[in-house]
Amino acid sequence: DTIGVALDRAARRWPQREALVVAHQQLRWSYAEFAARVDALAAGLLSIGLTRGDRVGIWATNCAEWTLTQFATAKAGLVLVNINPSYRLSELRYTLEKVGVKALIAAESFRSSDYVGMVETLLPDLAGSEPGQLQNAALPSLRALIKIGGQPRAGWLDFDTLARQAGAEQLRALAALAATLDRHDPINIQFTSGTTGLPKGATLSHRNILNNGYFIGASMRLREGDRLCIPVPLYHCFGMVLGNLACVTHGATMVYPAPIFDPLATLQTIQAEACTALHGVPTMFIAQLAHPQFEHFDLSSLRTGIMSGAPCPTEVMRRVLERMYMSEVTIAYGMTETSPVSFQSSTDEPIERRVSTVGRVQPHLQCKIVDADGHIVARGETGELCTRGYSVMLGYWNDPEKTAEAIDADGWMHTGDLATIDDEGYCRIVGRIKDMVIRGGENLYPREIEEFLYGHPKVQDVQVVGVPDAKYGEELCAWVRVREGETLCEAEMLAFCNGQISKFKIPRYWRFVDAFPMTVTGKVQKFLIREAMQRELG
Ligand code: ATP
Ligand code: MG
Repeated sequence: DTIGVALDRAARRWPQREALVVAHQQLRWSYAEFAARVDALAAGLLSIGLTRGDRVGIWATNCAEWTLTQFATAKAGLVLVNINPSYRLSELRYTLEKVGVKALIAAESFRSSDYVGMVETLLPDLAGSEPGQLQNAALPSLRALIKIGGQPRAGWLDFDTLARQAGAEQLRALAALAATLDRHDPINIQFTSGTTGLPKGATLSHRNILNNGYFIGASMRLREGDRLCIPVPLYHCFGMVLGNLACVTHGATMVYPAPIFDPLATLQTIQAEACTALHGVPTMFIAQLAHPQFEHFDLSSLRTGIMSGAPCPTEVMRRVLERMYMSEVTIAYGMTETSPVSFQSSTDEPIERRVSTVGRVQPHLQCKIVDADGHIVARGETGELCTRGYSVMLGYWNDPEKTAEAIDADGWMHTGDLATIDDEGYCRIVGRIKDMVIRGGENLYPREIEEFLYGHPKVQDVQVVGVPDAKYGEELCAWVRVREGETLCEAEMLAFCNGQISKFKIPRYWRFVDAFPMTVTGKVQKFLIREAMQRELG
């Protein structure tokens, strides 16, 4: 199927059920209303001269317009380009140029991000242009700018007007187009999180992400009438696939608590909307559990959800199960390049297994673990995880070289992650190849050491990285965030480690910090920690 077919089916099956609730926009739409608005916007996009395969960028934090755009571009055969809302000028220019964006939909501003102002800085002679007919030397591919909300502005089309102006003729054109769309068409370019360096643009098809959304929903037992709280960003696959597409394929409601993650708004929305499911990366669950008002909220409506994107400390999982009532929460493993999820634990896994593995491979996907030479390793051995099947991206946009490095001739996606798979098929993520520390010839996995350090009662969060060392090649360094109101020093941490873990696994350097460098998706950028330590240690 295409995404349009899936949405139309949802609107026929559950017309009166709520499709979308946006707390910060005080808005709720049924499936019937949502689908009608999507069609109107899709027809509006066609009316300004966009044609099949054109790239449409969206640059906004979580909002209803984001989701309308997601489905409208898919229906109109356009390619949605997710642009990170925390980008600044040079990153915006890089993205627009890299994929040749023809129309850009942007929010007016968010906190210190003046989106409209930044776009106008990139396109200095905008004032004289006809809206929708830009001719601009700075970015020749860009022909239309569409602004979400705010006052009218020279050179910009208004989102709401565009979503209203399509006539019967355009709606007929849209219906005719639907019959020609193919599930293998590219419909989405998503950039990776940039955890290990510059983000890469993964090109994905209807088949890639729609199927993945469906199977994710099925394995978390999402069902008709569920209400899924989505505090994760929509511009990332976590929001748009694990959130939005899982809901639409299972008759559940998409509930957005805030424009960007906010622990208090999330807790409030879960209670006010009686949400039955909640998504998040581990740091988001940690922030909610640690919120001073956590105890005041009734979260007993929760049942399921997905924790993904980074390893989940055991202790955090225990608290999520016990104090957030999410007995069916599952762990998922994936990457942007694979639509994203390829492993997911089932909802009835015993807690030990749920925290220590990412479950089994998703239906219709294959996996293998290989050594540095590409040979499959023995069961239980560590190596690079590779996956194959419907979920593997079409490629990195316009980058055959990088694509060939990631996807081999037989269609295997090389994940860059180290993992093991046991006799029953349960997969354990050991860490990223790039994060592995080799100290005096010994392979050390930061994740294992972090798990141990996390057990110290004063430790709120901890990251372990390798830093260059003349004698051992690399040495371990730990960055520790101390729990509020506590103090902690190196000697106390060393005493905690002594006799409990092997000497060579005890970090040589300790730093006590207030925050880690993070991507907007909530992932810690270890490469920046490594760089900071290299600068400091010379
Ligand atoms: P970049 O590729 O730009 O460096 P990224 O790899 O973080 O960034 P994403 O595609 O968002 O970008 O994330 C995929 C990666 O996240 C995986 O390759 C893996 O390293 C990590 N990951 C995802 N899920 C899990 C999980 N459940 N446990 C451990 N690690 C995970
Ligand atoms: Mg990656």
